Amino acid sequence: MGQRRASGAARLLTAAVWGSGAVLGTILVQSVTGWGSDAQARVINDLAYLPATLLTAALGLWLILKGRLGRRERRAWILFEASFVAQVVAHSASLMQNFLPEQPSYPAFSDYLYTAAIPLVVAGLLMYPVAHRSATERLKLLIDSLIVVAGACMALWYLEIGPLMETPGADPVVILFSTAVPVLDLLLVFALITLLLRRPEAGAAVGLLGGSMALKVVADSTYTIGYVQFGIGFQPGSWPFVLWATGAFFSLLAVHRRLRQDSLAQGQLPGRGRLGWLPYVAVALAYGLLAFAARNQTLFPLGGMIFGAIALTALVIARQVYAQKENRRLAVTDPLTGLSNRALIAERLAELTRQPLREGRHSAVLLIDLDHFKPINDAYGHEAGDAVLKAVATALRAVIRSGDTAGRLGGDEFAVVLPALPHRAVAETIAQRLVDALRTPVIFGDLVLGVEASIGVAFRDETTPDSEQLIAHADAAMYAVKRSGRGSYCVYTPELDTNARDAELRRAVANDELVVHFQPVVDLTGGDRMAVEALVRWNHPTRGLLMPGAFIELAEETGAVIPMGEWVLRDACRQAAGWRTGNPDADGVWLSVNLSARQVMQAGLVETIRGILDETGFPAGRLILELTESVILQPDEQTVARLSELRDMGIGISVDDFGTGYAALSYLRTLPVSVLKIDRSFVEGIDTDPDAYAVAEAVVRLAKAYRLHVVAEGIETAEQARCLVEMGCTYGQGYHFARPMPGPALAEFLAGTSRVGLAS
Ligand code: C2E
Ligand code: MG
Ligand code: MG
Repeated sequence: MGQRRASGAARLLTAAVWGSGAVLGTILVQSVTGWGSDAQARVINDLAYLPATLLTAALGLWLILKGRLGRRERRAWILFEASFVAQVVAHSASLMQNFLPEQPSYPAFSDYLYTAAIPLVVAGLLMYPVAHRSATERLKLLIDSLIVVAGACMALWYLEIGPLMETPGADPVVILFSTAVPVLDLLLVFALITLLLRRPEAGAAVGLLGGSMALKVVADSTYTIGYVQFGIGFQPGSWPFVLWATGAFFSLLAVHRRLRQDSLAQGQLPGRGRLGWLPYVAVALAYGLLAFAARNQTLFPLGGMIFGAIALTALVIARQVYAQKENRRLAVTDPLTGLSNRALIAERLAELTRQPLREGRHSAVLLIDLDHFKPINDAYGHEAGDAVLKAVATALRAVIRSGDTAGRLGGDEFAVVLPALPHRAVAETIAQRLVDALRTPVIFGDLVLGVEASIGVAFRDETTPDSEQLIAHADAAMYAVKRSGRGSYCVYTPELDTNARDAELRRAVANDELVVHFQPVVDLTGGDRMAVEALVRWNHPTRGLLMPGAFIELAEETGAVIPMGEWVLRDACRQAAGWRTGNPDADGVWLSVNLSARQVMQAGLVETIRGILDETGFPAGRLILELTESVILQPDEQTVARLSELRDMGIGISVDDFGTGYAALSYLRTLPVSVLKIDRSFVEGIDTDPDAYAVAEAVVRLAKAYRLHVVAEGIETAEQARCLVEMGCTYGQGYHFARPMPGPALAEFLAGTSRVGLAS
C-alpha cells in the first residue's frame, strides 16, 4: 500500500517535470512560428521559465534535505542549488523588468544574477566526488583539461573577447561585463571538460547537468559572437533562446534523475582514454582558427612561421601518441614470451566481470600451471626453462581466437581470458587442445624436455562478482587437477573449493560434528588380548554421516587434519577410559588411533598426546598410534626422535596399510615400530587363490622375523581368518568379526562377548 502511494507520488513528480518542460517548449514553438511582437515574446520567454526553474530549485532543496548524499556530493548540490535559486530570481526579475516604464540598460539586475549563477555551478562541478586517482592521473587530467581550455581560450579571444574589448567608445562597465560572461563560460568549459574526462563515475545526473551547462555555453557564445562579429542582436524567440531554455530543462532533469537514483553508481572504474582524444580536437580547432585568422597574412614572415608552428605541434602530438602506444605495449606485455602480462590479464578480467551477466553468453578464464617445470629449470638451466615457456606461449597463441587474451602471470603460470563464448563447451575444447599441445616435448639443443599442464577452468556466473573470485575458482580447479594426477584440465565446481571446504572441516571440529566409531581387533589364536581401532566419521549437517574417505584426504591436504586428529584422539581416549572404569575386562584392551602424516610432522605432537592422556586418564601403555607408510618411508630426524619419545612413554607404534606404499621391511628396523597392519588387499583372495595365499604368508613370515605383531585388515570370511591363523598371523580386524560401531555399542560388545568365541 505504502509502496503504491510512493510510486503514485513518483509518477506525479515525473508528470510535473515533463509538464514544466512542455511549458518551456512554448519558447521553441514561438521561435518556430515567430508568433507575437518582441515585447510579447520577451514576456512569454520569461514566463515559460518559471515553472521549470521553480521546480528545479524545489527538487534541489528536497535532494539536499532528504536525499541520501555523501558529504562531498551534498556540498556540490548545495552550490548547484544556489545557482538554481539565482536563476529563479533572475527570471522573475527579468519578467518584472518587462513591465517597467523604461527598459533597464545592460547589464540589468537579472544579468548580474544570470552571471553569478555560473561560478556556483563551476564550483559544484569541480567539487563533485570522484573515485580515487593517483597524483599522476590527476595531473594528466588537469593537463588535458587545460589543453582544451587553452584551445577554447584562443577561440573566445578571437571571436568574442578581443572584438568586445576593441568596441570603440563602449562603456567600460559594459565591456567588463560582456567579457566576464565568456571568461566565466571558459571556466565552465574547464569544469565540464574535467567532468567529461572523469564522466564514468560522475553519474547520469551530473551528466545531464553538464549537458545543460554545455548548452548554455553554446547559447552564450552564439549570442555574443552573433553580436560582435555579425552585428546581430538576437531577440527572444531566436534560437540562442531555445538553447538556453533547453539547458534549463536539462538542469531540471538532472535534479529529478538524482532524486530517483538511490546512491552513486559504485565500483565503476574510471574509464580509460574514452575521451582521451578531446585535447587533440581542441588543439586542432585552435590551430584551425589560427590558420583562418592568418589567412590574409603574407607568407613572410608570419604566415610561414604559423604553418611551421602548426606542423611542429602536429609532429609533437604524433610523437606523443606513438610514445604512449609504446609505453602501453611495454606496460602490458611479458618480455620473455611476448604474451600479455599479469597487469593486462587483470585488466581484462576486471572488464569481463564488470559486464552484466547475460543469458546465452558465456565467459571463462583458464589458469594454466606447468607440471615438472621447476626440475627442468634446476637441471638444465634457465635457458632451457625459457625455451619451454616460449613454446607454451606459441601453443597458447595457436588455440586462442581474436578477442581472447593469453598471458603469463609469472613463473610457469599462464592464463587465458575468454570473454565471449557461444557455448561453455568451447572453453573445455580449448583447455583440452592446450593440454594436448603442451604434451608435445620441447626440443632444446639436444635435450628433449617434457612438460605437462594442469589447467583450471572457471566460468563467470553469479558466484563470481569480481575477478578475484573468478581467479580463485580457476585456481581451485587447477589444484584439483594437480591432486588427481596433473596433465589435464578441470572445470570449477563448488566442491573443489578447498578453502571453503577447509573452513567447513575446521568448523565441523569446532562444532563437535565429528564422531568416533570403534572397530574391534581380535586375537585370532583365541587368546584374550584385544584392541579397538578408533575411526572418525563426520555427522554432516546436510549430507548425513560421512566416512573418512569423503574428507580425510582433503583434511590432510589443507592441514585441517591436525585439529581433527587431535579431537579424535581426545574423544577416543575419553570414551575408552570410560569403558575401563565400568568394566575390569576392558583393562587389557588396546586403543588404536590413526595419526596422519601431518600430525606426525608436528613439533608439538608429543606434548599434545601427553596432555590428552593426562586429561582423559587413559594409560599410555594401552595406546597404539597407527602411521601410514609414507611417514615410515621418509622419516626425518625429528620424526624419529618424536616417535622414540612416544615409545618411551609406553605408546605402541603401528604401520597401517602395510604393502600399499613403498615401505620395505628393512625401513622398519630403524624405527620404533611394534605392530604391522597388513593391508586388506593382501587378505583378499587368500582363501581361494594359492598365489595370494603365498604372498600373504611371506609378508607374515617376514614381519614375524622382525618380531613385529601382525594384524590382518579386512577379514570378511571365516575361511580368510582360518588361513591367517594357519600362516601364524596373530591378530585380525574385519567385518567378519565386527563392523565399526559407536562407543556405547562397543562398551556393550566388550561387556557381553566372550573373546574366545570371537576367534572361532
Ligand atoms: P584404516 O586405518 O586402514 O582403517 C580401516 C578401514 O577399513 C576402515 O575404514 C574400516 O571401516 C575398514 N574395514 C574394516 N574391516 C573391513 C572389512 O572387513 N572389509 C572392508 N572392505 N573394509 C573394512 P574407514 O573407517 O572408512 O576408514 C578409512 C581410512 O580413513 C582409515 O583406514 C584411515 O586411514 C583413515 N582414518 C579413519 N579415521 C581416521 C582418523 O581419525 N585420523 C586419520 N588420520 N585417519 C583416519
Ligand atoms: Mg588404521
Ligand atoms: Mg588400514
